[in-house]
Amino acid sequence: MDKVRIEEVQSTTKKQRIATHTHIKGLGLEANGRALPLAAGFVGQAEAREAAGLVVDMIRQKKMAGRALLLAGPPGTGKTALALGIAQELGSKASLVLQVPFCPMVGSEVYSSEVKKTEVLMENFRRAFGLRIKENKEVYEGEVTELSPEETESVTGGYGKSISHVIIGLKTVKGTKQLKLDPTIYDALIKEKVAVGDVIYIEANSGAVKRVGRSDAFATEFDLEAEEYVPLPKGEVHKKKEIVQVHMMDMECFSYLNRALESSLSPIVIFATNRGFCNVSSGEEILVGVSKIARGMGRFGSVTIGRDLGVKGLVWQQLGEWQLCQIGLVVLTDFGSIGTDMNCPHGIPIDLLDRLVIIRTQTYDVADMIQILAIRSSVENLVIDDESLAYLGDICQRASLRHAVQLLSPSSIVAKIKEHDKICKEDIEEVSALYLDAKSSARLLQEHQEKYIA
Ligand code: ATP
Repeated sequence: MDKVRIEEVQSTTKKQRIATHTHIKGLGLEANGRALPLAAGFVGQAEAREAAGLVVDMIRQKKMAGRALLLAGPPGTGKTALALGIAQELGSKASLVLQVPFCPMVGSEVYSSEVKKTEVLMENFRRAFGLRIKENKEVYEGEVTELSPEETESVTGGYGKSISHVIIGLKTVKGTKQLKLDPTIYDALIKEKVAVGDVIYIEANSGAVKRVGRSDAFATEFDLEAEEYVPLPKGEVHKKKEIVQVHMMDMECFSYLNRALESSLSPIVIFATNRGFCNVSSGEEILVGVSKIARGMGRFGSVTIGRDLGVKGLVWQQLGEWQLCQIGLVVLTDFGSIGTDMNCPHGIPIDLLDRLVIIRTQTYDVADMIQILAIRSSVENLVIDDESLAYLGDICQRASLRHAVQLLSPSSIVAKIKEHDKICKEDIEEVSALYLDAKSSARLLQEHQEKYIA
């Protein structure tokens, strides 16, 4: 029988926006692990790519247990791109069918006014795990709670209706799932006389359905094993990869991660940071800081964020929370010392750092940046001449690679208005006069500080 397509009906799946990395198709390594100068959308950063290639091998050989990866380097040096490359290498080579899901998570996602920080992390870990089970099309086992074939008009022009898919509600030890199954599975369901209340076992790869028995038998057999994760009777449990922007984490998160990484069921976690030495954040102190301000003053003032800018998200989040139950706008006047007094590399406690395999990314030279820009132009279907690329290379050096990439689309619009058949230097000049890069914006603010509200 052909492969059966099983889709889990998703309700709360996060939508990924990875358009800035669409050109990254892998790590671009030769069979011997050497980085090709330009391959799979990757340019330069050879050492980091080769190191990432070894990590891919370690993951495949299951030698990454209890460890995680830290990508450390200045902003815009390809850390996220590397993490995506790793996911793609794992996906395409591990199996022809599946792709390792890439679910980036920024530190600020951990901070929610409603959910505990560690629960957000746990939720993501679980999601990582569950997704992979689905992706791997292994086995589903549970009690049937719903069985409804969905009909459509026959597309063959004949009379009557045909089945487009079958919805099966399945109560597993972890909760109820709703699966959307290919119509090919319907015959197997009929053959096995599957009905609501039966416990079934679906082997997705082969399309085999087996009626295991009645639900009471299932309960006694599996309840004992019901821990945090769905125990799969057969097949390997695969892990997904998480990328966590680490500088937003605080002590509570770090100790959670420390523990979680030791679990044999932990997904493969990749941290990324662009921070140097900084203090490890401490959620508690910030809360105290905010509530002090909230109680004591509740007035407008200037914001002084500590030197660990990573804390900013938390500050605002907590401030937001406070605003929810109070009225008006509160801006912190003096923040004092944010965070713990633990000054650590990348703001990560040494004991966690010790468990990480660290890959460093380096800043690019102008030739590499021009090549990245050329790749981005072709991904965005833009035609650009060499002079313009060189000019964008200058902008990269002055401002940043990201800023130069962002100028591509507006420049193409200007080129079109001016009826140029490709982006010319003058189009970019016009656009770059309109938009400020981060550095110029900061400089202007400093120069004209008195005109702004402090
Ligand atoms: P940050 O620390 O600010 O999060 P980062 O190190 O994660 O930055 P990326 O987001 O990966 O940087 O890179 C910025 C942009 O440049 C992305 O569009 C990325 O795909 C592209 N890019 C970076 N390095 C490379 C490379 N070596 N080859 C091709 N594209 C690259």
